[in-house]
Amino acid sequence: MSRTHQLFAVLFAFAGLIYAALHFGFKDPAPIESVPPPRGPVQCGAMYERICSDTGFDLDPTGVVLSDREAELEVKELIADIVSEHEDWEQEQLDEELVARIFIPARVERLDQIYLWVIRAMEKFIEAQSDSVLTLAEKRLLKRRIRKTPLEMPPPASRYADAPQLLTKTDVFYERFADGRTRLRVGGGYVLGTQSRYNLTFTIAHELAHSIDPCELRARRIAIPAYDRLSACFVQTGLVATRKTRLECGHDDQLAEAFADWFAAQVTTEALMQSSSGYSNDQLFHSVANSVRDLCEVSGAQLDDEFHPAAKLRIERIFGDHPQMRKLLHCQEPPVAPRYCGFN
Ligand SMILES: [Zn+2]
Repeated sequence: MSRTHQLFAVLFAFAGLIYAALHFGFKDPAPIESVPPPRGPVQCGAMYERICSDTGFDLDPTGVVLSDREAELEVKELIADIVSEHEDWEQEQLDEELVARIFIPARVERLDQIYLWVIRAMEKFIEAQSDSVLTLAEKRLLKRRIRKTPLEMPPPASRYADAPQLLTKTDVFYERFADGRTRLRVGGGYVLGTQSRYNLTFTIAHELAHSIDPCELRARRIAIPAYDRLSACFVQTGLVATRKTRLECGHDDQLAEAFADWFAAQVTTEALMQSSSGYSNDQLFHSVANSVRDLCEVSGAQLDDEFHPAAKLRIERIFGDHPQMRKLLHCQEPPVAPRYCGFN
């Protein structure tokens, strides 16, 4: 290149820089407060350790989740207050007052709304499956079973008269009776200690999913081919432990619990996707953590692994590896599992 050409090249590059600066660069910066904080990728690795070694996730905009121990302690304090204020009351009156202080209308209404939202999300997921995966009749049957499972809670306290200890506990469970009726129940400790919409969503979705889990359907002599393929995938990818003592849907089998977590992960991811667009990275991670933090193993507590997959596996693989969750968090790290099981 000649010196004249070099000079032109330098002048041309300089003019180009000025042009680029005028168009893209050196404008007055916008005031800092008007720029929303950018939400970059959220670290997805070691999710179990990060969720379970921390004691609190108070940046979840929808509220906190107390540990079982903390929540049941709060119930005990409430009971002590009520007893000291009404020393002459009978047990029934004390229970009714405890219910009035825990199951306040705002909490009951919110739980009812989340329960209805979860039902709609589950139905949407079922309807979204192609007809070659779930036939129209199978879809109708699954949706009917979910809808037929009411959320039963006080007041009055007499609703839990057959299990009064539930007023103080953090248990949430699905039940089926000999006549085929089903229901969900939520303990007073859980209602008092859990504000996070995402934990309420995961928990209710998990319990409702039991109304259509592979073992429930088998007990009702209902066979759905897509379920067999899904169960086989759970076993192949190690979500369900293959122990010598395992009897499918019987002793030592984690299939029903893995299915309930799998469905709850689907529904909770949907809730997070719907409402977290304005969240900062920290708010989003705290919301994600709150969704499943009650699955963490509590040191000293007996391991509940006969029917439940290990806590690390439930949190990292069934929940954290969900494709939509990975998309929401912009995960950079590779997924933990070789593949994610779906209806197909
Ligand atoms: Zn369960």
